[in-house]
Amino acid sequence: LFVTFEGGEGTGKSTQIRLLADRLRRQGIDVLVTREPGGSPGAEAVRHVLLSGAAEEYGTRMEAMLFAAARNDHVEEVIRPALQSGAVVLCDRFIDSSRVYQGITGNLEPDFIKNLERIAVNGVMPDCTIILDLPAVEGLRRAKARAEMGNGPQTPDRFEKEELDTHEKRREAFLDIADREPLRCRVVDASGLAEHIADRVLSIIEPLLPI
Ligand code: C5P
Repeated sequence: LFVTFEGGEGTGKSTQIRLLADRLRRQGIDVLVTREPGGSPGAEAVRHVLLSGAAEEYGTRMEAMLFAAARNDHVEEVIRPALQSGAVVLCDRFIDSSRVYQGITGNLEPDFIKNLERIAVNGVMPDCTIILDLPAVEGLRRAKARAEMGNGPQTPDRFEKEELDTHEKRREAFLDIADREPLRCRVVDASGLAEHIADRVLSIIEPLLPI
């Protein structure tokens, strides 16, 4: 079972992945937790380039292709083998982040994004995508608090320095994807206590688990 977590900054993706992984492991399930950009040695090297701002100089298309290269390496080296061994794979960001960050707020043509996506995933699509939904202002507040407390990036990376309306646009774009693909995507209200949100996430995932 391949589950991806999506949503804007500070929506609690990594917290929810950790809580779900703990709960599944307590049931004796083999779980692999991974993330994008990154997740395999090759993809982590590309992550470094992407988050340093170096790719920005060369433009959004170059950036989107680097994300796709990293994703393909991650899929072939880590995700596909784990799924074949029967593990539940939980991935922090995947195709929908590319559709939203590079496609919608990066202004790249939908066809270009779709082609890269097809090549990158090479048939490995999420069975379920949890979209954590939070007003952008609240997400940014959380992301800032996290950075100040030293849990997470010390200095918010370049992606977190953008305008509030860009973040709000991304929130709408994630919700739009969920509307278009209701079989794959489930929107979860990410406000409130982490443990309560984790209950909701588990209730979505449990029926999908192999018996
Ligand atoms: O998930 P995390 O916050 O660690 O992601 C790092 C950054 O990469 C995010 O701030 C996000 O803005 C950016 N990103 C992106 N396009 C993707 C995936 C992530 O711009 N496809």
